[in-house]
Amino acid sequence: MKAVTLASPRGAITVESRDVPVPGPRDVLLRMEACGVCHSDLFVASLEKLSLAPVTLGHEGIGRVEAVGAEVTDWRPGDRAGMTFLATVCGACDLCTTGRGRFCAKQTNFGYSAHGAMAEYAVAPASTLVRVPDGMPAAQIAPLCCAGWTAMGAISEAAVARGGSVALFGFGGLGHSPCRSRAPASCVSPSRTSPRTSWRTPARPAPISSSPPKP
Ligand SMILES: [Zn+2]
Ligand SMILES: [Zn+2]
Repeated sequence: MKAVTLASPRGAITVESRDVPVPGPRDVLLRMEACGVCHSDLFVASLEKLSLAPVTLGHEGIGRVEAVGAEVTDWRPGDRAGMTFLATVCGACDLCTTGRGRFCAKQTNFGYSAHGAMAEYAVAPASTLVRVPDGMPAAQIAPLCCAGWTAMGAISEAAVARGGSVALFGFGGLGHSPCRSRAPASCVSPSRTSPRTSWRTPARPAPISSSPPKP
């Protein structure tokens, strides 16, 4: 298979041929449809040291299940799934056991300390995957696996009530996601022209629907 590979710290990013990975007992093998390119990929490529090298980049992947490990019961071949940044957690620390495994100090991450999604095939623990409905264009929804997940996590953590409001600072790749997804609150962003004095509700405020986001 082909995989977008960072061979060494601050090395070139190249497309390399690799063996198709073999899923472990609790893993799923995905045939990838699309993977977003994130600024974090560039950040990883700029690091002086890598915990895994060569490493396949990418943590915004959409794919279909090709095969599952012997202990996987909730995913079947043909299911559609999304890969996020979180690859593994320890499962035993206070954070992991209280539903906050994304803050686990012992986590590994796709495209950084675990091989990522920017390849024809990728392996991920079944427990880390999110279900993706058919009919949603992979290239458009792939960034939801990073920017969307991050932003919605922040809103969830803040326990914003349905119908409440949130203020978004830094209205970029992450900031726009809550306003284009199932945000439980309306979004208010600083005006580009008068960031200190003028506030506005985006033209497409926080829809609460199941329709796919637009790119
Ligand atoms: Zn990202
Ligand atoms: Zn942990």
